[in-house]
Amino acid sequence: MENDLEAKRRTGEPRILIVGGVAGGASCAARARRMSEKAEITIFERGPYVSFANCGLPYYVGDVITDEKDLLIATPELFKTRFNIEVRVRSEVRSIDRQKHEIEVRNVETGQVYREKYDALVLAPGAAPIRPPLHGIDLPGIYSLRTIPDSRQIREQIARRNAKRAVVVGGGFIGLETTENLVRRGISVTIVEMLPQVMPPIDPEMAVPIQEHLAANGVTLRLGDAVAGFEQAPGQNTISVITRSGGRYVCDMVLLAIGVRPEITLAGEAGLEIGELGGIRVDDQMRTSDQRIWAVGDAVEVKDFVSGQWSLLPLAGVANRQGRIAADVILGRKAGFRGVQGTMVCKVFDVTVAATGMSEKSLNRRKLTDRERHYQKIYLHPGHHVGYYPGAKPITMKLVFSTRDGRVLGAQAVGEEGVEKRIDVIAMGIQKGATVFDMEEAELCYAPQFGAAKDPINIAGMIAANALRGDAPVAHWEDVRPSQSYVLDVREPREFELGHVEGATNIPLHSLRDSMSGLPRDREILAYCAVGQRSYYASRALRLNGFPAKNISGGMKTYHAQVSESTEKESEDTLPSE
Ligand code: FAD
Repeated sequence: MENDLEAKRRTGEPRILIVGGVAGGASCAARARRMSEKAEITIFERGPYVSFANCGLPYYVGDVITDEKDLLIATPELFKTRFNIEVRVRSEVRSIDRQKHEIEVRNVETGQVYREKYDALVLAPGAAPIRPPLHGIDLPGIYSLRTIPDSRQIREQIARRNAKRAVVVGGGFIGLETTENLVRRGISVTIVEMLPQVMPPIDPEMAVPIQEHLAANGVTLRLGDAVAGFEQAPGQNTISVITRSGGRYVCDMVLLAIGVRPEITLAGEAGLEIGELGGIRVDDQMRTSDQRIWAVGDAVEVKDFVSGQWSLLPLAGVANRQGRIAADVILGRKAGFRGVQGTMVCKVFDVTVAATGMSEKSLNRRKLTDRERHYQKIYLHPGHHVGYYPGAKPITMKLVFSTRDGRVLGAQAVGEEGVEKRIDVIAMGIQKGATVFDMEEAELCYAPQFGAAKDPINIAGMIAANALRGDAPVAHWEDVRPSQSYVLDVREPREFELGHVEGATNIPLHSLRDSMSGLPRDREILAYCAVGQRSYYASRALRLNGFPAKNISGGMKTYHAQVSESTEKESEDTLPSE
């Protein structure tokens, strides 16, 4: 028999209550209105604003966005007049009565408590910044950045104290974006990061160019060291950040950016299922373990469709898509969330870093499927457009793919221009199950200002496909043993003299054919050059002449990143404390 919710969904008249009015909640509400003119839709938002641009907050701190009003994408009035949606700000939902289909709301200004009935309830409470119970964590001058009031406080602190030194705890995207903006305000920044790299979602060697760029912009990096506590001398305004290795960094303000945790209090207390990673468990229709309650955004656990495993991915696009799907489902339309693949982008000063799918790190960490266990990787450093047109900037790319079927598993890229365009193309490819052979054949935009007749996407596909077909197998620096293989440097002698890999023999590409008779046939020949292109030509010529040759992927440029990555790891242990 049809229940009251189903009957109301059929007529488009359910009473939909939404908890949280920013990315997930607001997009759910607006979509619900586009699906039904008769539904009664109310958003409850604890904070003073609805639908604001959290992603813009670091730029408000940095004065790139100067007017706070620009962060307000929509106001309660706009929701009312344009969409006939009621928004109640400063209204905290305190509990859910699942038997009676009611929520309890508290007006945080007046203290008034009341109840509201729902036919369908959507939870979009987001995630809260992690504040570990460290000594001194509640000292004045220690901030997190999640809301407009947070960013206002940070701006006031900068102005009031004429802040000159800041410590940013955490080198993820919020930490890095805020670092750039603090530097823009004339503040000298030290980043303390527990891991041996910044930007944890990407592989360590891919983080090296970002670390170098941060250092070049005057940022001090303390990697591989965790904060142990904070101290403030009586009568002093400055804060000392103490690290586990014994470091002490004195500053005027601290930004905590060590990640977020799903807001699950409401869901947990209502007895909704919580997943192993601490997010609300939902199905692919965004429905919780209660048939009348949906949940979206940072608060929920999501399936990673590349690995098939549960994960947390607190990103705005995910929240928006989920809000839309929940609205569709509530109003009777068939819709399903495809899962996530971790597509992200971040700008750090002049460098952009972007990634999609699985990193090598995550592949090695997880329980893998057969396709993932047999993976290969390649590196390349193409220009973002043709070299003959002025202004070409190199992009460092890494592609990870299955050697079983060539399926693309993940990609990462760092550079000044055109980075996100390449990752976006690969992101769509991954979602459609593309292989490196598809990347080879991809038909992409080209004019000299934008790319190349063989776009970096095509080149990445060609390198990977050549490796899979056995035309040009690749080797990696971590596997190179000069005692066991013949390491061949095919660069020009002047390049070789400026620095080369120990034990390598220099035979420039142009004289390789004349020198082949002297090359060994009983050992693998591992060829390298600056970025892997000349050594690709060399390895092809050698293979066609019967030599067991491989191309060391990414050449010296990748070598340098891997060497600095491992040197940094070593030196972290011996860093002097300040
Ligand atoms: P939120 O947008 O956090 O909204 C949740 C809302 O629910 C909050 O306003 C909260 O007050 C309210 N709420 C919680 N509990 C209750 C309750 N009991 N009653 C009433 N209201 C409640 N993502 C990107 O993809 N790209 C970026 O560049 C990017 N930059 C970011 C920069 C910063 C500084 C921050 C903080 C986040 C950034 N994000 C970015 C992440 C992105 O903003 C979030 O993934 C997204 O906002 C999540 O949407 P949500 O609806 O789940 O939660």
